[in-house]
Amino acid sequence: MAKLLAGAPAAAALAERVRGDTALLRARGIVPCFAVLRVGEDAAALAYERGAAKRCEALGICVRRVTLPHDAPQEALLAAVNALNADPAVHGILPLLPLPAGLDGRALCRALAPEKDVDGLSDASRAAVYGGDESAAPCTAAACMQLLRHYGIDPAGRRAVVVGRSAVVGRPLAMLLLAADSTVTVCHSRTQNLAALCREADILVAAAGCRGLIGAEALRPGQVVLDVGVNTDPGGALCGDVDFAAAEAVVSAVTPVPGGVGAVTNTVLAAHVVTAAKNCENRKKGA
Ligand code: NAP
Repeated sequence: MAKLLAGAPAAAALAERVRGDTALLRARGIVPCFAVLRVGEDAAALAYERGAAKRCEALGICVRRVTLPHDAPQEALLAAVNALNADPAVHGILPLLPLPAGLDGRALCRALAPEKDVDGLSDASRAAVYGGDESAAPCTAAACMQLLRHYGIDPAGRRAVVVGRSAVVGRPLAMLLLAADSTVTVCHSRTQNLAALCREADILVAAAGCRGLIGAEALRPGQVVLDVGVNTDPGGALCGDVDFAAAEAVVSAVTPVPGGVGAVTNTVLAAHVVTAAKNCENRKKGA
């Protein structure tokens, strides 16, 4: 039976550190503050906002909610970002993506002040992740690294296969694993012989958003499997990209869905906000 890499203990350990850092900042009169910027009332965005706000508030971070109507023009969106960029009380900004049709998400990410980007969206953050800076990475990619660390899994020298090459998960995670001295292969929808490549992995990350993509034929004994995918099965229950029953019977460790990577992401977001607040303080001291 595979070891279960549950997200909650990893999140709790990180939360302890975040709580301590927040208390130190507050003692110096700095209240870490993060703003979530939402356009429209999309149910998934609202659910994400609720989860992120709840976690941050529980860790002593002040949360500001900025909401625009779904038909807001691009100018209004950029004005909202610029106002948050200029607000000295705000340390981190999280625009909820994707935006409603007609709005330009890349322009929004370009407008974001890099020092307030807590989810790896800006070009400056992408460049930093290219250099292996985990604190600049999108929260989900950083959450995968946090899970590996928490469970004492060292990627160095191991073969990592990442299925998915999106800017928010696959690509940044591949860079972080490379910086951690893994030998990394990135797979995508045009990859040939996916199962054979996956079987070569010591650390296999599934981040495709395809239920059942990783089955028994892609797995072998000894592997560590991180399942980032979030899908629903025909009964409406949440599931990942990996056939969990097949993985549990074969590999050495696997994350559940739900309760795996997703359970760590919001705490990583809180950690990124506190880091942004500390960096802000250090810049003021240096000025
Ligand atoms: P995305 O932007 O749709 O990217 C999916 C990636 O998977 C693409 O690179 C795509 O290849 C690849 N892919 C799709 N079908 C494939 C197949 N049959 N074989 C091999 N590769 C395939 O999705 P995303 O935003 O990265 O998210 C991926 C999954 O993670 C989703 O289920 C999402 O809900 C989940 N997610 C979870 C969290 C969390 O905190 N747990 C956070 C973010 C996302 P191409 O590039 O060739 O199209």
